[in-house]
Amino acid sequence: MVDVLEIATELVFRLRSEASASPKAEICGLLFGDRSRIAGARACRNVHPEPARRFEVDPAALLAAHRAQREGGPTLIGCYHSHPSGDATPSSTDADAALPDGSIWLIVTETAARAWLATADGPVHGRFDALGLRVGLRAEDGSVTRASSGIYPREGSR
Ligand SMILES: [Zn+2]
Repeated sequence: MVDVLEIATELVFRLRSEASASPKAEICGLLFGDRSRIAGARACRNVHPEPARRFEVDPAALLAAHRAQREGGPTLIGCYHSHPSGDATPSSTDADAALPDGSIWLIVTETAARAWLATADGPVHGRFDALGLRVGLRAEDGSVTRASSGIYPREGSR
């Protein structure tokens, strides 16, 4: 059972700036890594007909990521999307769309990023369990450039 995931500071900044550059539509993409770490993220087209409130990762991109993984590429661990509303908590529509498959859901806003585990009987909408996110200055290639820098968002900073 995972409860804290590591993510590089620069990756969080990149996803937050993608989110803030798109205030009227949710942005989305795929996450790669392992059970302890979000190592990379790939932006995908949001193909949902109501992108202001919903998202759907371009199925072609999803298929390509699965194929690449089978051929030895990075391991797909979940997806990310933005909430232009500013609340990084899963919505009930997110819960309807999520399978209880243990995948990671990262939700980003202009100012925050929070990680969730899609699971059966999760406390949030019956589908999601909150995960900690430990943000560290680690490059996407895995090289550590500085020690991890605490939990994000910090306790009481919301
Ligand atoms: Zn959402």
